[in-house]
Amino acid sequence: MNASIHNKLAKIVGEERVSGEQVHLEQFMNREVGGAGEQPSLVVWPSSAVEVSKIVNLANSTYFPIVPVSSGPPRLAGTTTPKVKGTVILDLTRMNRVIRVDAKNKVVMIEPGVTYGQLLPELKKAGLRPLMPLLPKESQSVLASCLDREPTTIPRFHWDSSDPLLCTETIFGTGEMLRTGSASGPGSLEEQWESGQAQKNPMGPSQFDPFRLVQGSQGTIGVVTWITMKCEIAPDEHNVFLIGSGSLSSLQDFSYAIIRRRLVDEHFIVNARCLSEMLRRDAWHSLPAWTLILGISGHGELAQDEFDYRFGDTEDIARKAGVKLETKIGSVDASDVTRLLDTPSPEPYWKIRSLGGCSELHFVSTLDAIPGLHSVFLKEAEDSGVDAERIGVYVQPTVQGVNASCSLNVFYNPQDESDVANVTKLTVNGSEKLMESGAFFSRPPGSLREDVYSRVSPEVLGAMKRVKEIFDPRNVLSPGNLCFGEVIE
Ligand SMILES: Cc1cc2nc3c(=O)[nH]c(=O)nc-3n(C[C@H](O)[C@H](O)[C@H](O)COP(=O)(O)OP(=O)(O)OC[C@H]3O[C@@H](n4cnc5c(N)ncnc54)[C@H](O)[C@@H]3O)c2cc1C
Repeated sequence: MNASIHNKLAKIVGEERVSGEQVHLEQFMNREVGGAGEQPSLVVWPSSAVEVSKIVNLANSTYFPIVPVSSGPPRLAGTTTPKVKGTVILDLTRMNRVIRVDAKNKVVMIEPGVTYGQLLPELKKAGLRPLMPLLPKESQSVLASCLDREPTTIPRFHWDSSDPLLCTETIFGTGEMLRTGSASGPGSLEEQWESGQAQKNPMGPSQFDPFRLVQGSQGTIGVVTWITMKCEIAPDEHNVFLIGSGSLSSLQDFSYAIIRRRLVDEHFIVNARCLSEMLRRDAWHSLPAWTLILGISGHGELAQDEFDYRFGDTEDIARKAGVKLETKIGSVDASDVTRLLDTPSPEPYWKIRSLGGCSELHFVSTLDAIPGLHSVFLKEAEDSGVDAERIGVYVQPTVQGVNASCSLNVFYNPQDESDVANVTKLTVNGSEKLMESGAFFSRPPGSLREDVYSRVSPEVLGAMKRVKEIFDPRNVLSPGNLCFGEVIE
């Protein structure tokens, strides 16, 4: 069966772009603690949307599952690990063109394989910067990050939970292509560019926003072959300030006050272990338990004036809140932190640098609830025999501070069986307790899927399954992810 699918795929993309070699297959095995899955049968590297559509059509007529992938390894989340045997990985990393940078409209059009390292210099040339997650892995696809709703570091530019994703070109599980948002027409892309349009509006076509079905769907509804992404003007003046604190809750009132006024750009909180790992130092003992990181900027001819007023007003609010903006805390200089923003992580990825493994839990809540949820997790860590010092915490206010994303990164040694067993226990029991306490896992990885969907109402599950039946009736796309079954029909 493999040989015949291999040959059919080779006819579409060329022999050198299909592989069943172990070295290519094994990189998709699950590195998530407690995660399961199957090794894929083949990997195929398409080079165009037309080839993607042909492969999806072939999957429908020959009945084989596909998992779309746009980032390179390491894969800590397990969402791209096949859940069923015979899966073909649709590896889009070689579709990596920056199609268009539009400085006037602050928007960029990119293919799936474009990484932050590739995009940043292109945007810089145009005087732009991306809205990007904190220190992504070097091989992280910008498109996949937007599809996965990874939080970005600047909440004042985060208006909709879907930001910075705008329009998409999507090939659904039926093999049919749709351009979403204003990219849907009227007119071709070239005609739209000619008339001054920039595929900036994600809404549509008509009153329907199909990109919302694809975003967060973990490759189960459609394969996205390009997106447009919202960018911002690069600042001419930009400084980072640090506020250290012994407790997370003591930073809360100041955080809310500052977000409401939209004075600062970067705004997030990390604990000592997280900051230390990000800086690639073993210095958590010398750092405050929590550090709030703020970036303040100014733009254009009045950059210094803009910076001065933003900084002055931020300082006034800080004084009233009884906190102090610092440029150095312990051994950490604010300029060390500045270097971590607007850049991917060097190799090895910062989360696996010190111990080799990292179990991640990402959930959504509100800033005021996160200290309580963190305590719940620490209690589970104690019960599981995992030292609290090994838990890196990153709290990112999102959507103008209306809610916050919290990442709990448990660093562990994958070679140490008892460490793996303890961290697995913590991940399973900790996520369960977090859910019971109100944490919202909006994008559950494979290991949490059953826990999450057993809590979803039957009406919502029914609606999700009906949507899936319309856009991927044969369940060829990422079967077994989210609440969808594993059977190819
Ligand atoms: C809130 C939050 C925060 C996160 N923070 C981090 C983090 O700090 N570091 C980190 O490594 N990961 C983070 N992740 C997880 C990350 O987004 C990925 O899910 C994870 O890295 C696994 O992706 P991958 O590299 O294996 O594949 P990726 O190629 O990145 O794929 C990610 C998901 O998108 C689907 N997909 C990829 N390309 C396409 C496409 N072209 N069309 C349709 N679907 C596609 C895949 O099937 C998969 O389900 C976070 C996730 C969330 C929800």
